[in-house]
Amino acid sequence: MKLMEKAPAKINLSLDVLHKRDDGFHEVEMVMTTVDLADRIELEYLDEDRIIIESENRFVPNDERNLAFRAAKLLKDKYGVSAGVRIFIEKNIPVAAGLAGGSSDAAAVLRGLNRLWELDIDTSELALLGSEIGSDVTFCVLGGTGLAKGRGEKVTELPAPPPCWVVLAKPSIGVSTATVYQKLDLETAEHPQTSAMIDALEKGDFDQVCQSVGNVLEYVTTRLHPQVNQIKDQMSQAGADAVLMSGSGPTVFALAQQETRAQRIYNSLKGFCEEVYIVRMLGNRPDTC
Ligand code: ATP
Repeated sequence: MKLMEKAPAKINLSLDVLHKRDDGFHEVEMVMTTVDLADRIELEYLDEDRIIIESENRFVPNDERNLAFRAAKLLKDKYGVSAGVRIFIEKNIPVAAGLAGGSSDAAAVLRGLNRLWELDIDTSELALLGSEIGSDVTFCVLGGTGLAKGRGEKVTELPAPPPCWVVLAKPSIGVSTATVYQKLDLETAEHPQTSAMIDALEKGDFDQVCQSVGNVLEYVTTRLHPQVNQIKDQMSQAGADAVLMSGSGPTVFALAQQETRAQRIYNSLKGFCEEVYIVRMLGNRPDTC
């Protein structure tokens, strides 16, 4: 028995860090939405008690370091499942890019194994389990558009952004999320107006969405990697309605309501940045989980 699950990437329309908590985590406020760039997760039922991870992407670990493996192990342990699974990850989301690829794979495994192993866990419970794997996994289980608070695991649903095109550009540099957080100075950093973004989504006001994008981590990553700013400038010059870095980077996204503009932004980045994608926002939660 086999089944497929889509694991879409997310972008941060806004990302704020409020303070560092006593437990070492940062208290965040993030508005996230899913986009139509997805890994494909194939799950095959095994009679034997094993979790096998396979991927053709050399950056994806094929053992317990993989978040998809951890998701399967968590369900096995919590629900006493004696069956096993072979997990094949077709990696389409750039790795370590600020697009939550690993978290989305883990979320897809939770959703998929819930069906394959007939566990009948409801979505809110599955989302709660996700937080044991990683801060972004809860949002990825739910999908759509949401406000994430706490360390990212307290998610409330928000209206989908007005339809638009998203151009994603990932420069070929590695960004360490830990270093970015270490170098973040909360006193001097420019904090986004999360409430203005929420208001924009509630009104369905595309212009206000564009004016309200902001990421408190952006200045840290751009100082370390000036290429990120160069991509932002290139996108703006090509007519983007808004440009922002996602997560701790290095991926930058541009929003464009008109397809011709999105295409122009995409074309302007060819030869300038190796990995460029032009996709739609998904915005709404899927009907089934
Ligand atoms: P986030 O936006 O949540 O910070 P990210 O997009 O920056 O995530 P990922 O693509 O999830 O980063 O990968 C970060 C690291 O996690 C990788 O370097 C890789 O070693 C590890 N990893 C674990 N599981 C996966 C997975 N299923 N896919 C990709 N990377 C994974």
